[in-house]
Amino acid sequence: MDWFRDEQSCLSYLEQLRWPEGFACPRCGASNDPYAASRARLMCAACGHQCTVTAGTLFDKTRTPLRTWLAAAWYVTNQKYGVSALGLQRVLGLGSYQTAWAMLHRFRRAMVRAARERLSGKVEVDESYVDILDPYKLRKGARLQSGTAKTLVAIAIEVLEPKGFGRIRLRRVAGTSEQHLLPFVRDAVQPGARVHTDGSAAYRALSEHGYIHHQSVHLRADDPAHVSMPGVHRVASLLKRWLLGTHQGAVRSEQLDHYLDEFTFRFNRRTSRSRGLLFYRLLEQAVITQPVTYERIVARRP
Ligand SMILES: [Zn+2]
Repeated sequence: MDWFRDEQSCLSYLEQLRWPEGFACPRCGASNDPYAASRARLMCAACGHQCTVTAGTLFDKTRTPLRTWLAAAWYVTNQKYGVSALGLQRVLGLGSYQTAWAMLHRFRRAMVRAARERLSGKVEVDESYVDILDPYKLRKGARLQSGTAKTLVAIAIEVLEPKGFGRIRLRRVAGTSEQHLLPFVRDAVQPGARVHTDGSAAYRALSEHGYIHHQSVHLRADDPAHVSMPGVHRVASLLKRWLLGTHQGAVRSEQLDHYLDEFTFRFNRRTSRSRGLLFYRLLEQAVITQPVTYERIVARRP
């Protein structure tokens, strides 16, 4: 709050993030010192185009003050497990739950970069079911218990040597067959990596795609999956606890992908050193993330 005393200091901060090399006109591309057409408006000295630092970013056309946005970004990144919409509404004193909820969803869109590097080295891959709300069942007036649906999530995690875990990738998948899991592995893991899976036939073609495939088959009850694949087991249980804890299970299936993005963002930056950078990273990505309308956030299909 000291750093961002007023809207102007927020604007200057975002301006530095968006144009680290100095202003570049979104229309003509010229680099120049823009005129200040008004408090928030910049005018290109070459072509006269007027723009704001927030136009075309996640903060496009927002009616929420930037100060509130930056405070929200701070709470989102400062809490180890993040914050629920209700928690954010309270701490920021926002008038509506909906505003807090939509802010969190917009930030989630900024948490994953499209061109990120695939996992490498030694990687465990498996699938796990998570419980989330099923709006169809709820609408029929069922009790909450029966209003949940099991959704399958594919998990990939780097296993470090001699110990510890690296980065993860998660994806909601429609089934346990090769057509769902092979594309996930190919998008998430670099060829040449040593990929460890269970004995499922879905993974049988991995070596044909350039992976060094290690399969372990659990035939005996005394050799459960969490012993031979500790990484995926750990991520699956953390993910379930996070969905039920921070978000109290109030995650709908059509929005699960964005929650998986947030979980991945947090997990991959979980060391104390990189956690200090979270606020900066989130805003850095927010100013290069396309605007998303409220209608699209609540849409059934993302
Ligand atoms: Zn221009």
